[in-house]
Amino acid sequence: MHIAVFADIEGSFGIWRMRQCHTGTAEWQYGRHCLTEDVNHVIQGAFDGGARKVTVKDTHDSGFNCIVKKLDKRAKYIGGHFTQPTLFGGVSDYDLILYVAIHAASGTPDAFFPHTHLGIFSELKLNGIPASEMDIYGGYLGEFSVPIGFVSGEDIAVQQALRVLPWVESVIVDKRKETYTSGKESENNLAEGREKLRHTADRAVRKASEMKPLTLTGPLHFEGTFRNEKLAQRFNTWGFQRTGATVAWHTDDMIEGFDKLNKLTFFPKKYYAFRGPMIFLVRNFYRIKHSYFAPAPNPEGAVFSC
Ligand SMILES: [Zn+2]
Repeated sequence: MHIAVFADIEGSFGIWRMRQCHTGTAEWQYGRHCLTEDVNHVIQGAFDGGARKVTVKDTHDSGFNCIVKKLDKRAKYIGGHFTQPTLFGGVSDYDLILYVAIHAASGTPDAFFPHTHLGIFSELKLNGIPASEMDIYGGYLGEFSVPIGFVSGEDIAVQQALRVLPWVESVIVDKRKETYTSGKESENNLAEGREKLRHTADRAVRKASEMKPLTLTGPLHFEGTFRNEKLAQRFNTWGFQRTGATVAWHTDDMIEGFDKLNKLTFFPKKYYAFRGPMIFLVRNFYRIKHSYFAPAPNPEGAVFSC
């Protein structure tokens, strides 16, 4: 069994504020340690559960968040974004995806750093219902027959994931500062939480045959509401249907739906022909920057050992 561990960052144990997810900051450098610990426990669980091969796909922001030299050496690491065969690179070989450190959908009240795909949207709807990344990515990966079988993140994010992926094994992650900044007690909280990640990933992999690819049958109607009308105008280079701050597109399947979402967010029409070499350059720029020029971590009082 080839297991993929997809890593976001917001839903990591040890992370309680947005700055810890903001690429390049000293607080993010601490957040990277948190994420790497979580991912390592999930990798261990995957092997315990019977994985033959584990690949980690780093997805948040530039796609270079895990600290590679601290990652479990048995896992293959893929950082950055791609144009071919998918934004995540090749996915067809994966038997199951374990999605670590997810967050709530854009527009979710009182959630930690809620967004779907990018923070430029105040809401992203699929067929009239606010969609989380588990709807969008889950449905997209489902088109390649790859199921998601595990999620970890704050309770509302897990609830949203369970709505579309009711079969997933899940771990709820606390987002309160005091959980991670109270000395010995916090050490216990972290150890307990990460043990849960390991056990639950193990269980998910053992139950892999029960996990289903998410299949969303068309027609699919997407509505992305940008934070303001100016943003919508600027990003809508492909001339999708726009009403005020809301851009809409209709497709028959998630592959086309997700491709259009990426055209709207990452690939302006003018540069579309050059997206391959551009994403290659961007990927390698961030790979080098975040591997060799990282600031010292600022744990801001959290229990932390480098
Ligand atoms: Zn993220």
